Amino acid sequence: MSRVAVVGGGWAGMAAAVQACRAGHAVTVFEAARSLGGRARALTEAMAGLDNGQHILIGAYTETLGLMALVGVDLDAALQRRTLSLRYPDGGGLVLPRWPAPLDALAGILTARGWDWRDKLSLLRAALSWKRAHFECAPSLTVARMSQTLRARVVAEFVEPLCLSALNTPMAQASAQVFLRVLRDGLLGPAGSSHLLLPQYDLSRLFPDAAARWLLAHGGEVRRAHRVQELAPHAGGWTLDGEPFDTVLLACAPWDAARLVEECDGAGAQFADGSWAASARALRHEAIATVYALSRHRLAQPMLALRSGPGAPAQFVFDRGLPRRALPPGLEHSPGNDDAQRVVLAFVVSACREERDALSQQVMAQGRAQLGLDDLELLQTVVERRATFACTPGLQRPAAYIAPGLLACGDYVEGPYPATLEGAVRSATAAAALMTPRAA
Ligand SMILES: Cc1cc2nc3c(=O)[nH]c(=O)nc-3n(C[C@H](O)[C@H](O)[C@H](O)COP(=O)(O)OP(=O)(O)OC[C@H]3O[C@@H](n4cnc5c(N)ncnc54)[C@H](O)[C@@H]3O)c2cc1C
Repeated sequence: MSRVAVVGGGWAGMAAAVQACRAGHAVTVFEAARSLGGRARALTEAMAGLDNGQHILIGAYTETLGLMALVGVDLDAALQRRTLSLRYPDGGGLVLPRWPAPLDALAGILTARGWDWRDKLSLLRAALSWKRAHFECAPSLTVARMSQTLRARVVAEFVEPLCLSALNTPMAQASAQVFLRVLRDGLLGPAGSSHLLLPQYDLSRLFPDAAARWLLAHGGEVRRAHRVQELAPHAGGWTLDGEPFDTVLLACAPWDAARLVEECDGAGAQFADGSWAASARALRHEAIATVYALSRHRLAQPMLALRSGPGAPAQFVFDRGLPRRALPPGLEHSPGNDDAQRVVLAFVVSACREERDALSQQVMAQGRAQLGLDDLELLQTVVERRATFACTPGLQRPAAYIAPGLLACGDYVEGPYPATLEGAVRSATAAAALMTPRAA
């Protein structure tokens, strides 16, 4: 049985480990942190029950959903399924009915609230032209350029929020090619592809922890709190911190993978021109902030779009329900409000550029104004500075193959999707398929 090491226990690493184990390899996962999940993980201690960032899945995430089911996650319990909704607190915006594609999108556009007939016509015309072009365009085109024929309201209430949430890149810098691919798979895929799937558990429980349990039950191993320091070539395979493996799969973020490859002694010939590490290093990154707040009032829907702009940075807000654990000191339910338990709201700021304190204050003011919540109180702001790579036009992403027996997977590895859970999981499946089949 060939020995496979996976460096990184994020969604890509755990997905690759499960796939490699299914293919008959003996798999060991190394994860630097105590908990699994990487950039999509549960927070611990005082913030237990919440995540490092509010995440959303869509029905088109077929690989992710398939693997979650395989490792024993009850999808109906774990994810609340809703039709695509870009509804604003004032009732405006677009909601798709539960109809087959493309009728759902057509009906959603025609019934969008607050849009006049010219707005609707401009999106219908654009959608038809995207479909005629098979949702393809010049690799150099940005989403902003692609949207030039659209009316301002359609750009502000449809293109911009979708672009920011899917690509985490401002429209003026975002790849239209990748955006169109997301639109195609989401809006024209099989029934339910465009549905929003809202996690009902924390993100570690949603897949990585279940994958680890599955792996242990199938003879694999997960070593937490072990940051791999050294990769070296060894007798046709590789060693990690001195331990030999036949195949090593780097499932860590691009900067960590690049460091391991660059510092790898004695592998000069195998890395040819060193271009893999250079392309991983060349990626630029965008931040995402999640501002958690408390209120006595629930949202009208589990998720609402927000009007964002200067001084109002959040694009979406989610109702996370009652906190699962005790609140941090100072934010416990106050004695006078015992009857009114407070819910947690998660405000999401994609492509975030602000500093934490200014951002938190701006989001609180935005929430009070747009949601009419006078009692909104800041709980915690989590800023992931390198949340995703900047998904710009014509981007050259690193390949899955690095050298013989050395592979990479992760949301940044070359593929059609932006940095998403589905992109990470798909790249894991592709990398596992590149592994040499086990010796008979
Ligand atoms: C705030 C936020 C919100 C997001 N929202 C969404 C969303 O709504 N929908 C969506 O689909 N995607 C979303 N994403 C993107 C998604 O989280 C990522 O695409 C995905 O989690 C990347 O997974 P990965 O396994 O490729 O990498 P990572 O999650 O970065 O995993 C890499 C792992 O490797 C470990 N590691 C690094 N170096 C070493 C080492 N030397 N030894 C051992 N372990 C090591 C790290 O600790 C980490 O656990 C969001 C991301 C963020 C940050």
